[in-house]
Amino acid sequence: MRYAILSKGDAKSEALKHKMQTHMKDFKMIEDVENPEIVISVGGDGTLLQAFHQYSHMLAQCAFVGIHTGHLGFYADWLPHEVEKLIIEINNSEFQVIEYPLLEMIVRYNDKGYETRYLALNEATMKTENGTTLVVDLDIRGQHFERFRGDGLCISTPSGSTAYNKALGGALIHPSLEAIQIAEIASINNRVFRTVGSPLVLPKHHTCHVKPVNHDVILTTVDHVSVKHKNVNTIQYRVANEKIRFARFRPFPFWKRVHDSFISSGETL
Ligand code: NAD
Repeated sequence: MRYAILSKGDAKSEALKHKMQTHMKDFKMIEDVENPEIVISVGGDGTLLQAFHQYSHMLAQCAFVGIHTGHLGFYADWLPHEVEKLIIEINNSEFQVIEYPLLEMIVRYNDKGYETRYLALNEATMKTENGTTLVVDLDIRGQHFERFRGDGLCISTPSGSTAYNKALGGALIHPSLEAIQIAEIASINNRVFRTVGSPLVLPKHHTCHVKPVNHDVILTTVDHVSVKHKNVNTIQYRVANEKIRFARFRPFPFWKRVHDSFISSGETL
């Protein structure tokens, strides 16, 4: 079994990474950061997001596992004291793989002969670079839907629906549903300007195009990464063909994770 470990970089995560490397040597596991079959993130959800982006070019080959060295994470759900058990599980069993949908974002420019494509595990957002009002035309399936004015838009995956999307009043979506969700970030709504005001859930193959109106620069984020784009013609969002694969060694249902993270960690659902 070829593995890679990505640590958050703090002392606790680094110590755990070294402990795991020693154990894994005993199991004759091979550290292969170029071509791993299993990618283990040690830190928090942010570390798993980093691991996802590091290996997003080879999602069909590798499965992810997250260990949290801070508080319980959505993606990082193994505890430091469980790592020996986890290593035995990795070696002993044909582990189950569960797949979660991803968001594809494609940026097209007015002045460039190429486009840039991104994959998000949580969400992509678009805003202006200086915090001024974003004005964009939103099309869904080739039909004009609305002209949006406000702070920005957040387009999330089902597994990302519990992150930024939740803070925006978006719905929590089970990751077995292949969908993306568009949530408004502080839209301007009055007698003159109107947006739908509700989060929209789009199924697979329903593509959304967002066209900036008179903006030279658009600030986008894809998970924890932010990028400025000049001369944007349109940004396209849809459910990606690729999926992220998580190695599952024990059940930890999505709704239990929602319960334990947001309601109470002491009780069972
Ligand atoms: P980070 O690692 O500090 O993450 C921020 C928080 O979001 C952490 O508590 C993390 O556990 C939680 N989180 C991440 N993914 C989650 C998920 N799928 N479900 C539930 N909670 C989740 O910061 P970062 O590394 O910059 O992470 C980027 C993420 O931060 C973004 O993808 C975005 O979802 C989130 N974010 C949230 C808000 C907000 O809630 N107002 C604002 C900006 C960004």
